[in-house]
This record gives sequence, C-alpha cells and structure tokens, in this order.
Amino acid sequence: MTTTPDFATLDETHDPALRSWVPSAEDPATDFPIQNLPFGRFRRRGIDEPWRIGVAIGDQILDLKLAREQCPWSGPAGTPAFALLEPLARGDLAAFMSMGPAARRTLRLALSQALRVDSVEGPFLELCLVPQAAAELSLPCTIGDYTDFYTGIHHATTVGTLFRPDNPLLPNYKWVPIGYHGRASSIRVSPQAVRRPRGQKAPAAGDAAPGFGPSARLDHELELGALVGRGNPLGEPVPIEEAEDRLFGLVLLNDWSARDLQAWEYQPLGPFLAKNFATTISPWVVTMEAPFERPAGDPHPMPYLDHPGNRGFGAIDLTLETWLQTGAMRDRGEAPVKLMQSNLRDAYWTLAQLIAHHTVGGCNLQTGDLLGTGTISGPAPDQGGSLLELSRGGKVPIALPGGESRTFLEDGDTLVLRAHAQRPGARRIGFGDCSGTVMQAP
Ligand code: MN
Repeated sequence: MTTTPDFATLDETHDPALRSWVPSAEDPATDFPIQNLPFGRFRRRGIDEPWRIGVAIGDQILDLKLAREQCPWSGPAGTPAFALLEPLARGDLAAFMSMGPAARRTLRLALSQALRVDSVEGPFLELCLVPQAAAELSLPCTIGDYTDFYTGIHHATTVGTLFRPDNPLLPNYKWVPIGYHGRASSIRVSPQAVRRPRGQKAPAAGDAAPGFGPSARLDHELELGALVGRGNPLGEPVPIEEAEDRLFGLVLLNDWSARDLQAWEYQPLGPFLAKNFATTISPWVVTMEAPFERPAGDPHPMPYLDHPGNRGFGAIDLTLETWLQTGAMRDRGEAPVKLMQSNLRDAYWTLAQLIAHHTVGGCNLQTGDLLGTGTISGPAPDQGGSLLELSRGGKVPIALPGGESRTFLEDGDTLVLRAHAQRPGARRIGFGDCSGTVMQAP
C-alpha cells in the first residue's frame, strides 16, 4: 500500500514536534493534541448560559468567545483569525462551516500558533480555558438532513450472507454508493440515554399476525459521520474533484438499530422505525484538516465517481473501535471492554464519492447536513461493527468478563464508539467518546 504523507493539506499545523502550553495536550494518550483542534458546542455544566463554540485541547476547551475578546490576535495569522472568530464568538458554528476550507485552514493556523509553547497569545488564552470535565456539550450545529450510506463492504457481505446465503452482495453494490435518507430530528450528542423502541415484528412461528412490543434485538452500528460545510444549489451536482472540500469535518456516529423491527419492515423501501428512534454522534468535530494518513488504491467506478485525487488520497486510515459496559459491570466499577476494531480504510466508497453520488441527480446538500458512512466492519469475523455480525445473527453469544454474555443490547448497557489515527512519527489524534446507554422501553 502506498501512503502519501505529503497530502496537500499537510502544513506546519501537522508537525508532530509541535508542543502546546496546555499541559494535558502533551499527554501521548490524549485524543486532542495541538495537531487535532476539533470544534464543539459547549456550556459550563449546571450554569444556565448560552451555548458557546470551543476547540478541544488536551482535557480543556478553548472558549472562542472569550478568546476573541481577551486576546490581541496581532500576529500575521492573527488578524484574519480575529475576523473568522466572529461567527464562532456568536456561537454559530454553521456560519463558520459554510465559509469553506480556506477559512478553516486560516483559523486552524492561527489557533495552532497561539496554542504553542511561548506564543504571544498564550498568557491571554490561559484565561479562556474551561475544563472538559466541567462542561456539557450539545450537537455542534443544526442538522437539517441526515443520509446514511452502506460503504462497509465487509458489513454488507456479512449481513447479506445472514439474509441471502447464496447471494450476499447485491449486484449494484460496486456501482452505486447505496444509501437512504435518515431521520435528523432524533440525532443527539453523546452521552445519550437511548430508549428501547417498541414496534411490529414478524409473526412468531405458528402465528398469523405480526407481534408487537419492545425490540428484543437492539443493536448498534459503528459509523463515521461527515458534516457538510459549504452546500450546493439545487440542480448543481458537486464534481468529485471538489467533493471533499464540501465537508467540514468528521464525528463518530452510532446508528442504533432494532433488528427485529428492521427484518419485518425493510422490504420494499428500506429501514424506517428500526432506525428512526435514535442516532448518537460524538460532540467534537474533527476537521478535514486533521492529520489523517491517506492510503492509495481504489476500484474503478463510473467517471462521476472517479478522480486521480480520490484514488490517491480519498481513503482515510482511521482505527475504529466499539466498547461495551453492561449495567452489572458499571455496578462493580468495571471499565468498558473492547468488542472489536476495524478501520475506515475498510469502507468501499470514499467520502468524496458519497458527496458526488448524493448530488449527481441535482440534490442540494446544506450546511450542517450529516452523511453516515454505514457500518464499518473489518474483513475478519471478529471485526463486526454491529452485534448482528459479532453474534452471527444472534446465534452465538459474545462472552463478557464476569460470566455475562450478549447477543444484542440489554437495558443498562452502555455502548461506546472510539476512533483514532496513529502512525509512526506522528502525534496520535482521537475523536473522544460516542457513548449511549440503553433505557428500558416505555
Ligand atoms: Mn447504518
């Protein structure tokens, strides 16, 4: 596999030698070193105050409203940054997202310089930090529309095998980036309490009529979510070479799924109540400028989905994990256990291809729209990004510490998604937790 450390967006902000005056940002295990700089919307917990936009650094949040007011921002990168901070100081991340990648890179450079050891801005910005432990986070912006794709080819093959052993991958899979329009209103930020849904299920053996009740096969899906920055007008497709520039950044996404409801309802139009009751995303938006490695090599799709840049840099090397803590484990004070690990490289389609395909018929994407990748599973059976895969369709229970086991999620279970990018000679960056706890059905 060829890699491209000289990807176009690499600049001084990615230098692994950069050090921050925020001590916790120097912890090698932090998700948020100075090379990351993700955006989120927060307020101090327990205080009734307007939501603010901040940047995560170590275990702190740089409050961008205070930072704009308190800091002189006089350096060469500081002057344009002062203007770019205006919508952020107002708490309007979407206004900043809609400005596109050039504005993002300019502010990223200024924040990177200001957060480095011995910066002029350091003494001012020290007064603008809020501990993450003292903050609550909200959705980063209004999400108007949500589309979920199906780019995890190993997931599609495994799940296809469960339903159609002789024909696991449908003939369109390697031509069309399959997706469906999801439900935006039930997207919440981590940590979320997820109420187990009730609904119709296929008739039990010997019954004529379908059943109804709480889902008995509640599952998670390990996905990445991409937030749209600059949208496109209705009727004007986004060419693939411009597609990734339309994205602002990435979050983790759990597409909670009630498999028994899904099996009964999904034909002929796809998922509906099986997935519209909850979707959880992680609160920190890791921008497209974060130092991701881009492994080359892609299939050869139709021209509107193909471009040398996409073949060379379209994929992202990002390790993805799911962790589970049962209610009993929580009562015993035990930390979550890791269920599996996969990599975003395992996706068949790139993010740019999803944008190009979504808009090729003229559909307009808007600032804040969310695109889910679909469940990202690895090639091995123990790399399933959902319990449906790990339990072989609910047939093989997964053993947990303390003698417990799971086929699907039980009330009180907390499911956590995590992601990080790590390679030799570079700082590790992470996404923070995307966590949800299952509550009993009403
Ligand atoms: Mn999904």
